[in-house]
Amino acid sequence: ENLTIATLASHSSLQIVHGAKKEGFKTALITLHDREHFYRNFENLIDHLIVVNSWNEICTEKVEKKLESLNSIFVPHGSLVEYVGIKCAESFKIPYFGTRKMFRIEADQYKKMSLLYQAGIPIPKEYSLEDDIEKPVIVKLPGAKGGKGYFIATSKKDIKEKLSDLKKSGIIDDEKNVIIQEYVIGTPAYFHYFYSPIKNRIEILGADIRYESNIDGLKRLPSEFGITNFIEPSFVVVGNLPMVLRESLLPKVLDYGERFVKASKTEAQPGIIGPFSIETIIRDDLEIIAFEFSGRIVAGTNLYISGSPYSWLYFNEEMSMGRRIAREIKMAKENNSLELVLT
Ligand code: ATP
Repeated sequence: ENLTIATLASHSSLQIVHGAKKEGFKTALITLHDREHFYRNFENLIDHLIVVNSWNEICTEKVEKKLESLNSIFVPHGSLVEYVGIKCAESFKIPYFGTRKMFRIEADQYKKMSLLYQAGIPIPKEYSLEDDIEKPVIVKLPGAKGGKGYFIATSKKDIKEKLSDLKKSGIIDDEKNVIIQEYVIGTPAYFHYFYSPIKNRIEILGADIRYESNIDGLKRLPSEFGITNFIEPSFVVVGNLPMVLRESLLPKVLDYGERFVKASKTEAQPGIIGPFSIETIIRDDLEIIAFEFSGRIVAGTNLYISGSPYSWLYFNEEMSMGRRIAREIKMAKENNSLELVLT
């Protein structure tokens, strides 16, 4: 039977359907009405454009039946839980390429950091509201999207004052849920991994740097206007820059990926499947500190639709993350082992 690779029209969806087409699959995208016009421009990549008026329609019988009739495999990306909510994402009737149980972990900052810790991957030191702070910390507000509303502080007093301001202005309701982390000094690096249950192999398919406003602009200012003075840094993502890693870092990056896959098998059964990313700061002693991960395809992979410097080494052909997903599904189907990659 013919399979269709489906996803939400957002985030990395064009890359995903582009890759699916290259591997010979049918494709389906679900789009909101107001973006239909934009996605119609890519009819060469999209066999079925399913138009909805609100993302709430995703978990209705109408949409699920349509996807079922197309024999769909759904690829979850970064916008899925954000748009449809965790309840719908978890109970969605269509099989996912990826790990359903990961949604719940990803929705909870504490569970996330705990998975990295369980994996034995170095993470920033964490503080409670009562701890004395001796170095700069980053204070993360729960549910803040794309780093909006985070702040940097250098003392306990500083943190309490800023949190009480945020409470007064209604941006947060409970200061107990904030995460206070050592602010790691170094350069950011985001690694794109793919774990193949079929080949039993972890591939490093690329890396990127997230370009964030205004933190990445502050270095353009003379130091007297810098972070510790009157300009409040913020971390709003505006895009991604490509990166190749210094060779000596690569074995460690692979080791982190292997540790993560292993830990995920106990924390989110059956463990990670396919794409994931570990998001890090690399210090000047070349220690790599992970402050976040994504258990699915990240937007930084959109840089490499025609392959990355690393994917060429594994495959010697144009292999994006989207195409890699489709290739895995194809191999699983040929081996009669689709159950190893679907949840
Ligand atoms: P989301 O996936 O919700 O958008 P994110 O991937 O942007 O989150 P966050 O943990 O929200 O990651 O961090 C946002 C930004 O803040 C990072 O990209 C990084 O620049 C910076 N940052 C986060 N934690 C630290 C840390 N401990 N030390 C230094 N910088 C940090």
